[in-house]
Amino acid sequence: MDRGSHGEELGRIIDGAAIARRIRDKLAGEVEALAASGVVPGLAVILVGDDPASAVYVASKERACAEAGMNGLTIRLPATTTQRDLLDQVRALNDDPSIHGILVQMPLPKQIDPDTVIRAIDPTKDVDGFHPINVGKLLIGEEDGFAPCTPAGVQELLVQSGVNTLGKDIVLIGRSNIVGKPMAALLLQDHLGANATVTICHRYTRDLAAHTRRADILIAAAGRPKLVTADMVKQGVVVIDVGINRVSDASAPKGYRLVGDVDFDAVRPLASQITPVPKGVGPMTIAMLMKNTVRAAAMHAARVSALRGVAIGEMA
Ligand code: NAD
Repeated sequence: MDRGSHGEELGRIIDGAAIARRIRDKLAGEVEALAASGVVPGLAVILVGDDPASAVYVASKERACAEAGMNGLTIRLPATTTQRDLLDQVRALNDDPSIHGILVQMPLPKQIDPDTVIRAIDPTKDVDGFHPINVGKLLIGEEDGFAPCTPAGVQELLVQSGVNTLGKDIVLIGRSNIVGKPMAALLLQDHLGANATVTICHRYTRDLAAHTRRADILIAAAGRPKLVTADMVKQGVVVIDVGINRVSDASAPKGYRLVGDVDFDAVRPLASQITPVPKGVGPMTIAMLMKNTVRAAAMHAARVSALRGVAIGEMA
């Protein structure tokens, strides 16, 4: 147990970087086994334009693919790319048997409608889990779809940190399609790491603190630095901070540093466990992207061998 400067007990830090590392090491073994059977998992990432944050994310996905022994393909398109050209690119990847996962990095330039692009991705290659088919499967609890990587990573963090979610009050801040809504859907299911009572708060929630103070587990994904303060949590709460915010800091080499949505130093003494920013949820997002891609490749291999079985059966 860490202690603060006044001897007070501090919540245990959930080391997302270490947990993500273990997952990626295990995946590398699965990739090797798949490759030995003739299928090298392939992930294609399309980056349109030159948004600097997107370029950083894409570079780390490329590194993660290479490290896991996967086939990583990055397609960089100019900011002036038309929607039609992007859709053609997506369809070509849908038809490419060496590619098992397709990710189109958001945000897209304004001439392109993100929903149209997401709907064009083959749902069996939609490793981001944003296609309406996968969103529906997640809500129904069908497990052959893909869950979005960030909320799947949060659930994995809770499981790996020994946090029991069954019957617990989990309060989410944020209702986006990327984090809040799929997070709620995952936590509501009837299986391990779920079975919780879930409350979703958003920008129109009246008296946010009244909800967060009830939380056994608080998951913040609002994109607002220091939104969650010490007076908003109860003793023993588990805090998962999804937020990534740049705040200016003249002493930092880049002139800014990254913080979450939670006032970490003030909240940690009250928490039983808490994620830091960075090195909390962030590394898990990439680990889950890798995991979804390996699963997509394994499912593809299973479909191919089932088809071969049918063809052989027909010849016999
Ligand atoms: P978003 O802007 O789409 O959604 C933010 C949500 O927070 C909205 O539903 C809004 O209603 C709610 N909200 C905003 N201000 C609020 C307030 N004062 N009180 C209550 N609710 C409020 O953002 P997003 O894409 O869901 O991302 C949320 C945060 O998580 C961002 O900081 C983003 O950078 C981060 N993020 C991190 C990862 C990761 O890998 N760690 C992945 C995705 C997003």
